[in-house]
Amino acid sequence: MSREDVDINALLRENIKSMKPYSSARSEFSGNAEVFLDANENYQDFLGGEGRNRYPDPLQRTVKSEISEVFGIETKNIFLGNGSDEAIDLLYRAFTEPKNDKVVVMPPTYGVYSVFANLNAVPMICVDLDSEFQMNLQGISDSIEEYGENLKLIFICSPNNPTANDIDLSAIITILESFPGIVVVDEAYQDFSNRESTLNLLADYKNLVVLRTLSKAWGLANARLGMAFAHEEIISVFTNIKYPYNISGPAQETALKALAKREEVRSGIDTIIESRIQMVDELSKLSFVDRVYPSAANFLLVRVIDANKLYTSLKEMGIIIRNRTNEPGCENCVRITIGSGNENRELLKALRALEGKI
Ligand SMILES: *Cc1c(COP(=O)(O)O)cnc(C)c1O
Repeated sequence: MSREDVDINALLRENIKSMKPYSSARSEFSGNAEVFLDANENYQDFLGGEGRNRYPDPLQRTVKSEISEVFGIETKNIFLGNGSDEAIDLLYRAFTEPKNDKVVVMPPTYGVYSVFANLNAVPMICVDLDSEFQMNLQGISDSIEEYGENLKLIFICSPNNPTANDIDLSAIITILESFPGIVVVDEAYQDFSNRESTLNLLADYKNLVVLRTLSKAWGLANARLGMAFAHEEIISVFTNIKYPYNISGPAQETALKALAKREEVRSGIDTIIESRIQMVDELSKLSFVDRVYPSAANFLLVRVIDANKLYTSLKEMGIIIRNRTNEPGCENCVRITIGSGNENRELLKALRALEGKI
């Protein structure tokens, strides 16, 4: 099966179709030269040779070629953003007409999809996940039918935040097959999962955008570097509409350093997965814990007797977790990141001290 019939150009916001990108000095000239007087940079480097006085590569060619090697995807299919959040914003700006078009999101999920829906004035159709936190395929198919060509984007998060589970691959394929708009699969936590990545589906589905990030498994939340992998027609739209120098020089250099530490990152992921298994065990023993949900990520969703009380009590002890009790299907649930051995021990100690009090 495949979906080569999707017309990317026809899906674009009207003004984007004819948009001419800003041509920066650094993107117009890319060869070798001795004297660069084309970008109005300051020739003086006050920081002593770090090169911060020069604009960074707007196309991030070195970083992309490393990412291409690590993820096994050609550079023409890679967009780099200031966090994957930038890619999410660009998806709205490229593919939706404010007030007119619609997007589908599936609560409980990552809050950024709705923040950018609001920012871009795009109405959001919420099709809640079912009681197992899997997709409601009937609900999604009803929305596809009801909104027709005004439904432009469907956001799927797998492993999902905050529920921590993988979304069934076969269900994602069903949507890719039946939806003529853009299907976004946010795989921020994929490195912690055993399920196959949807990156393997890119060659078959022109309407698929896979988001990954260096913020989680790669330990680079501070640098702000996210990736979108997609058909080259989509990638060139992103490249045309992004801020010209969207990834700073320090961020590019930091990313290169991390990408050179693949082995450490691989074993760091294994360590987190081992701690996750231990934490599931320990948390399940607590009397006020109802359920520790299965996790394919670097965090756990835990249902307790009283989430508000637990959150407040831990906060008073200097330990911050995320209270998710107000999310659909997450009543009395908290989200707990897997921390260092020491952090996990501190948390468990505090939780044991709260026995009988929650
Ligand atoms: C953390 C997270 C991201 C990462 O966002 P960045 O902007 O790349 O740091 C993306 N999606 C989800 C679901 C997340 O939880």
